[in-house]
Amino acid sequence: MGFLRDNKSFLAVLIPFMTIPWIKLGDYHFLLFNFSHNRLEILGFGIEMGAYAMIALLILLAIAVALISALALSRFYCGTLCPNTFFAHLLAFFKGKKKSFLSKLVGFSLLTLLASLLAFSVVAYAISTDELIDAIVHLGFAGWLVTLLSLLMIAEVYMIQGWYCAYLCPYGATCAILPIEDRLTYEYSDPEHHCTDCGGCVKICPIPDLDIRQGFDIRCIQCGLCEEACKKTFAKNPTISTLIRHDKRSVLQAGGKSKGILIAIFLISILTITGVITLTDVERLDSCRLENKNLHLNNLNSYH
Ligand code: SF4
Ligand code: SF4
Repeated sequence: MGFLRDNKSFLAVLIPFMTIPWIKLGDYHFLLFNFSHNRLEILGFGIEMGAYAMIALLILLAIAVALISALALSRFYCGTLCPNTFFAHLLAFFKGKKKSFLSKLVGFSLLTLLASLLAFSVVAYAISTDELIDAIVHLGFAGWLVTLLSLLMIAEVYMIQGWYCAYLCPYGATCAILPIEDRLTYEYSDPEHHCTDCGGCVKICPIPDLDIRQGFDIRCIQCGLCEEACKKTFAKNPTISTLIRHDKRSVLQAGGKSKGILIAIFLISILTITGVITLTDVERLDSCRLENKNLHLNNLNSYH
């Protein structure tokens, strides 16, 4: 139950994310970038759209969501909503020092299952679930894509999780260049020098060479594993529970940049809406096609 409670934010997002590709409203899906029929399906409507326009739209949306999240939530996203951290928590739950081989095997199997379901859901936003199941059964391209994504997720969690979060993740890089120090919510405080120097918080931290006792470090992904380690160190101490604490204030209140964030969200939303409208302007796309065709014909005529 503790594991579910600690990861409730992630599960609250994961369940609708996995459900949406299955929802159909009439002839069309609730949300589907339907690359096999060159059509954006949204809220039960179908909008004809070329593959490149859909890719551009997806990139635009990803940038907008990442920027809004980085400005509003910072690394709070990494610790609570990122699948990477959820998988790391899952492994830590099943992989502690005293856990049996069977427990580790259960952890690995659960990780494989969840990674596969997540990979399936990601690809199911680009091809309908029926077609995707068919592609998996008949070893089509989309089926291989699901397998590749699942394997990448599993390998990443087992082999380079902390290193990836600290140095490779584009979201982490975005957070690192924004002035968002006050959005970090895990803090070490030990005015009375109770730290036993057990090293538990450093050993469990997935980020290479990160010691939360040294102060602010933007690489901290807010996963909370150090707090748990410190709690274990002081488990038998009646006066101290931990030296690392999670600031439970709403992350949106944890700082004085709310106005800037609201302006940023407003601007990004306007940009996104403008982008969506521009990309879905079928008449404009048709006129571009016509212009290109005329240009091509003119070139041919001048050549002859
Ligand atoms: S310092 Fe703590 S909260 Fe930050 S990444 Fe390391 S273990 Fe997670
Ligand atoms: S786990 Fe707690 S007691 Fe141990 S080194 Fe870290 S802060 Fe100190």
